[in-house]
Amino acid sequence: MSELMIGEIPVSQLVAKYQTPLYVYDEKKLEDTIKAFKQGFQSDHFKTKILYASKAFQTVEMLKLIEKYDLGLDVVSGGETYTALRAEFPVEEIYFHGNNKTPDELRFAIENGLNHFIADNEMEVELLDALSQEYNKKIHVMIRLNVGIEAHTHEYIVTAHIDSKFGMLYESEACQKALNIIQDSEQLLLEGFHAHIGSQIFEMSAWLAEIDKLVSYLQDFDDVLSLNLGGGFGIRYTENDAPLPIEKSVQELVSYTEEALKKQGQTIQQLMIEPGRSIVGEAGTTLYTVGFIKETPHKKYYFVDGGMTDNIRPALYQAEYTCDLATKLQSEKSEKVTVAGKMCESGDVVIQETYLPVAESGDILAVYATGAYGYSMSSNYNRALTPAVVFVKDGVSKIVVRRQSYTDLLRSEVL
Ligand SMILES: *Cc1c(COP(=O)(O)O)cnc(C)c1O
Repeated sequence: MSELMIGEIPVSQLVAKYQTPLYVYDEKKLEDTIKAFKQGFQSDHFKTKILYASKAFQTVEMLKLIEKYDLGLDVVSGGETYTALRAEFPVEEIYFHGNNKTPDELRFAIENGLNHFIADNEMEVELLDALSQEYNKKIHVMIRLNVGIEAHTHEYIVTAHIDSKFGMLYESEACQKALNIIQDSEQLLLEGFHAHIGSQIFEMSAWLAEIDKLVSYLQDFDDVLSLNLGGGFGIRYTENDAPLPIEKSVQELVSYTEEALKKQGQTIQQLMIEPGRSIVGEAGTTLYTVGFIKETPHKKYYFVDGGMTDNIRPALYQAEYTCDLATKLQSEKSEKVTVAGKMCESGDVVIQETYLPVAESGDILAVYATGAYGYSMSSNYNRALTPAVVFVKDGVSKIVVRRQSYTDLLRSEVL
């Protein structure tokens, strides 16, 4: 087969039908990943809950899939809350994150029935207390802690980053004050503790260190609380990435937590995790059309019809990807090229250096593992139109987000 298939459809068919640039999600892959999380993340000692961190990729269709598999949901803004409500996601399964939720966002969430909030700081707990009284509603609060562990790829640092903008140090005066407010409140209920130690984590040991920290804080409490370990499970963007097998690693998170609790003679109500990238990342592929091809003294460029507006990660943090000429999979990769976008920024590069076959203008270029933080970070810079999103499965494609049109660009303008 010399042509890339996604969901049993040749990509040239998808391109003929939907044009490029195009975000394509392999629905079976999404489902298999969700199933692996569910299969592994179970305990006989406490409840378990997987929350999909929807900032990675949030559309109504995606949320319907998440609901179908009985996962909970993380949102981080009024806009994500609104989308979840429009998707008719069960409100009691939504957890609201963020270090600076505005009063309007909190009101909007409370008025619409959300009652799980991850409080980042002491002021937020004060505001939640006031709002819970005003609305006469019970609110479950998880405290976001900075456990002093920062994990990225193959390393993690302990006692690093105590000045993070996220979370509180458990020992801090602010945290103790926040806990006191909850304790004295009629309406606030302490649900437990949350931490999120990083992204693209490939080392089990970072998670285990986090569990040790979180469990140690439970000593101060008689109540049976819940723990939320956050997200950050690494995925494979390039051959340099070696992700942990999902089912096995979340199983280990559960068993390690069970043991840590046993050692301390404690129990919890529920253990939670919040994968985002790992659920959607590898299921997404971006299809582009190659336009002009250009040689400079030291480089050869393949230009594509998108770029930083549909995937800002390379420009934002030198993220790396792999790609193929999607209808020339068997051709020799004889050309050393830079795949660059069409936006007016020198940093608008999709892949800094890769080997591809000789391309012709009009060829389809597929960039893999773009399912997380691609569409959700897309922009209209250069008045680029946000690409369409399609889900494919068993030879059937369905449009989930239509491509923007020029009129969309002026929709908010007061003319
Ligand atoms: C971003 C985020 C996640 C998801 O992280 P991934 O790397 O996408 O798994 C989970 N929890 C919190 C609090 C986050 O901010």
